[in-house]
Amino acid sequence: MPVHSSRLSMSGDKAVVAAPLLDDIENHKQSVAALPSKRYFDDVLPFREEEIREALKREAKRHRWWKESAAKKMEIGELENSSCIQYVLESFTEARSTSEATEAYTLGQYLDRYGYTLGGHGDDASASQQNPWDYEVLPNVMFADQTRVMELPGSSRMGSCTACNAEGATHCFHCRGNGQDKCGFCRGTGMKSGVAHPAVYTHPMVASFPHADLSRGYASSSTAMVRHGNNTYGVGTPMYFMSKTGVPPPGLGTHDLCYMCHGRGVRECHYCKGGGKKTCSTCGGSGSVRSFSKLIVQFETEKSDCITACDVPEMLIRQAEKKEIFSEQANYVRPITKYHVKEVNENSRALCVKHLERVMGKSRVIQQRHMLFAIPLCKVAFTLGSQSGIFWVYGRDARIYFPKYPAKCAIL
Ligand SMILES: [Zn+2]
Ligand SMILES: [Zn+2]
Ligand SMILES: [Zn+2]
Repeated sequence: MPVHSSRLSMSGDKAVVAAPLLDDIENHKQSVAALPSKRYFDDVLPFREEEIREALKREAKRHRWWKESAAKKMEIGELENSSCIQYVLESFTEARSTSEATEAYTLGQYLDRYGYTLGGHGDDASASQQNPWDYEVLPNVMFADQTRVMELPGSSRMGSCTACNAEGATHCFHCRGNGQDKCGFCRGTGMKSGVAHPAVYTHPMVASFPHADLSRGYASSSTAMVRHGNNTYGVGTPMYFMSKTGVPPPGLGTHDLCYMCHGRGVRECHYCKGGGKKTCSTCGGSGSVRSFSKLIVQFETEKSDCITACDVPEMLIRQAEKKEIFSEQANYVRPITKYHVKEVNENSRALCVKHLERVMGKSRVIQQRHMLFAIPLCKVAFTLGSQSGIFWVYGRDARIYFPKYPAKCAIL
């Protein structure tokens, strides 16, 4: 068993498990040492005058405020060819975290699947001892963001359901376990009219208002209930009156009673069908649950790039067609050091360091790749009538950039 310097941090109920640092450094060293030291950089061809003139014609067509003849008349002077170099670094990384989960499970199902032990399955009894980095999880595609979720091997445990105290059923919150609820049609009065019969609060043997006894009622309705064998009725209803006096309230006929509750003022709770209990949704009524750890593996690509400084605005340079002049892929790439432009080497080094700093200890680098793209660039001196100046041709698609457009009148 390798020694891991595993650091755990919690975010929500998800525990992010840092990648083992020592392994990472070791991998990095080995991988970098294995890279070939000779690197070949492809070249870009410089622009020739004919190409520049063609590009000017296209530019004249694009900009209506310039005539095509201007491109023909223009005298092209000195050409200064160079390239703009874009360095791109991509790191494909994985981060891992765990999260606790439970599912409804009967003891029978569990024993069939895991055998006759109820603790954790694996070397350690406790899932917290498992290191999520001990398992190999492969991405489906390289350099594409994706998330994979699976059960952490050996983390399965059988336990009693805490939501229902292993009873398989929970108290019905709607009726507070009474199984009876206030009748909504008569507002708990038992009367079709919805108004309590005067006899229930004037008769000396009854003298009780409906809704009077708050201590025996429940929050959602203030109807106090009396349970009489299998019969339940609300205080202050005709049924209550009859139970106290033995006769119905004076002048009251069956047609005066609420037809939904028949004068009881209460009805069977429709959430629990009168039982006062509901099947526990956590364990599905079995009273037991299986808990396990979910292993969440996130694959991500981090991409950075740097373009060498030049006189054409970077925004334009990025749109131009470029040529790949170098590409390399490895577990860890080694910064470019031998390119003839120092700035490129510096960019490469800075980004390689930045990527490593960002992922170290948090995630693990699976693969890195880096590329160099050249955007050909040519500074052109021109004369047009009495005007002279400079413009640039850039990109493999030979785009034109004038820092200052020649005035319209000069082109006529
Ligand atoms: Zn339960
Ligand atoms: Zn009713
Ligand atoms: Zn209920």
